[in-house]
Amino acid sequence: MMLPSDCHRRMVLEIRDISCASVDRAARDRTFTDAVVGSKAVDGNVSNGSDVGSSGNSAAKWKPAKGLNMGEMGESFEGIRTIVCDLDGVLYVDSAGVAGAGNALRTLVADGYALLFVTNNATKTPSMVAEHIADRTGFQASVDHIVTSSQATAHYLKNQGLDNCFVVGEVGLRQTLSDAGLTLVDDWTAAETVVTGLDRDLTYRRIADATLAVRGGATFVATNLDPTYPTPAGLQPGGGAVAAMVEAAAEVAPVTCGKPYGPMRELIAQRRLPGGALVVGDRMDTDIAMAVAEGWFGALVLSGATGADSAPAETAALMVLDSIAALPDRLRKRGVLSSAI
Ligand SMILES: [Mg+2]
Repeated sequence: MMLPSDCHRRMVLEIRDISCASVDRAARDRTFTDAVVGSKAVDGNVSNGSDVGSSGNSAAKWKPAKGLNMGEMGESFEGIRTIVCDLDGVLYVDSAGVAGAGNALRTLVADGYALLFVTNNATKTPSMVAEHIADRTGFQASVDHIVTSSQATAHYLKNQGLDNCFVVGEVGLRQTLSDAGLTLVDDWTAAETVVTGLDRDLTYRRIADATLAVRGGATFVATNLDPTYPTPAGLQPGGGAVAAMVEAAAEVAPVTCGKPYGPMRELIAQRRLPGGALVVGDRMDTDIAMAVAEGWFGALVLSGATGADSAPAETAALMVLDSIAALPDRLRKRGVLSSAI
């Protein structure tokens, strides 16, 4: 099987070129390098240094790479057994399904691939995610095949022996942490840990209490650092924007658990098949960065956060598609079918 290591090395360098919104560009570049090469920063075990990939307009500022052309891709994308599929911007955009997504998923299953649905969106429980996928695409996903950044956060907290959480987030995050046996508190003075995720009913009071808790010594954990999420009206603030408020006010960077960081990757590793994997996503700084970190292939789709004008060139490890609807045919044209299994 052809290993895409050289292409990944180039992608690491290219991803580092993402323009960062942080005031500390140099530190962000260092931690991002750590992320894509699998150092401790992506293992979720370091505080104050895991702020990678949160550039506010990373997609818009992406510099197209001079990658391999299509003719050079013929021998690549071999040995794939698991397709790790992002959700927002890939299968649906807010409440609207991406055209052809359901058929694409059914075709991929028929072609022998195992599917995992992996999302940094912390607003839904896994069962809520499965319902959302079914409603928007018609595809019935098993709850066992869904991995959320809320689950990754619960995984991290339990591994660290942390129990007591003050949550800035929606019911899906609170429920997932509670289901994992963690204790939720609303009194910031009692908080050992502050956990942030997207909260569409966010109040100043909640951010203020989270800030006070972190300043008082609570461990700051972000489910994800996605600055935005795509909606039909355009990009709106995501979980990373919520974390950024606490980070700015508390002057402490969070440990991060979602893509491309270690806790999420550990959960994926527990559920994917042995062999190669392909990540399908709409963000270079989370989805494709995770593929790079694991030595997997990537498929960037242009149906979400990244537009055609800011997409990188294809390489032997990265394909660029208008949407997931084009993926089954592209894999078939590469000669990568279930025969690789
Ligand atoms: Mg996405």
